[in-house]
Amino acid sequence: MRDFICSKFSNVEPSGIRKINEKTLEMEREGKKIYHFEVGRPDFDTPKVIKDATIKSIERGDVFYTSNFGIMPLREAVAEKLREDNNLDYSAKEILITAGASEAIFDTYSLILEEGDEILIPNPCWPNYVNAAHIMNAVPVRYSLSEENDFQIDFNELEELVTEKTKAIVIITPSNPIGSMLSKETLENLADFAKRKDILVISDEIYEKIVYGTKKHYSIASFDEMKERTITINGFSKTYSMTGFRLAYIAAPEEYIRVLNIIHQHNTSCATSFVQHAGIVALKEGQEGAQKMLKEYKRRRDYIVEKVNSIDGLSLNNPDGAFYAFINIKGVGVSAEEFCKYLLDELCVALVPGNVFGTAGEGFVRLSYASSYEDIVEGLDRIEKACKHFMNK
Ligand code: PMP
Repeated sequence: MRDFICSKFSNVEPSGIRKINEKTLEMEREGKKIYHFEVGRPDFDTPKVIKDATIKSIERGDVFYTSNFGIMPLREAVAEKLREDNNLDYSAKEILITAGASEAIFDTYSLILEEGDEILIPNPCWPNYVNAAHIMNAVPVRYSLSEENDFQIDFNELEELVTEKTKAIVIITPSNPIGSMLSKETLENLADFAKRKDILVISDEIYEKIVYGTKKHYSIASFDEMKERTITINGFSKTYSMTGFRLAYIAAPEEYIRVLNIIHQHNTSCATSFVQHAGIVALKEGQEGAQKMLKEYKRRRDYIVEKVNSIDGLSLNNPDGAFYAFINIKGVGVSAEEFCKYLLDELCVALVPGNVFGTAGEGFVRLSYASSYEDIVEGLDRIEKACKHFMNK
């Protein structure tokens, strides 16, 4: 029989995060208690107002296809949110509602990437951006976000990486996996760069509401002449703990939205009808629930920063946002892979080796603190044990 699978899929790897998660599930089936720090899924229930709104919407009969663009009241509510929170001036017609940010990324890539086109992606980065580029037969070109550079963009490097084939640059702020944020100055420089090189910016702002104080989140599309060359992606999964609802949106100039909608129409038709209605309530009434979660993330993050920096061999810059600690383990003297394997096999602690997010992640592990405070305390004690084990060897 012929090989029917496209050759391009030989480049696409299953998510390293999922592989670890599968292993933990197997260990749990054997009756072991696992300390889960591997997945980027909020551990809180969705705020009650949002769940109630979903149920009411089903009962009311919002159970049919909607406009492929998304229901107008949600597009209007998103436009209002962008105006109020992000200083962005989009009309409802410049918003497309999608089934999750993952779909939004796929739609956006489908819109702009032709075979052989290059796209600048952070290193380290949440892996979907890289794998989706391979699926498009495009070339992911990685730019570094290094600890030495405070996880900001190095424009000398960017200058070397950009070619005539570069279509766009992806930014994620706050970052997955680093938890860092791009400063206003970096974003201003990036805006100049994008205009000078005539490339688009894909701005993933899904963690924008999960920030811890000193730094402010900026939307690059709000900068001078940037709206026309930015595609902003945002969603409900993280802020409102709605990962299973599958709801997100793209904000972009109307001519992009028109074609994005065609792509979206042919793979999803529309986001789930009653979930869209719940999305309106999330934007209008979900803030209290979101604030509660934020407060708890901050408590966990403060503990992690203090504890990690007290452990010999480890260091951690203050994460500014999201719910990830990107811990430098270079002082321990083993690879991130070996460190994570030992922790999972021997101590039942699930972390993700930094190299899953790109070569620049070697020497780091990602700890997702969307996990209970008690588990974090115990998990970090076990991580300390692992450090002692390796350093006394
Ligand atoms: N962007 C980033 C940076 C993410 O971390 C994630 C989820 N891990 C997504 C997008 C996808 O979110 P959604 O649930 O909306 O597909």
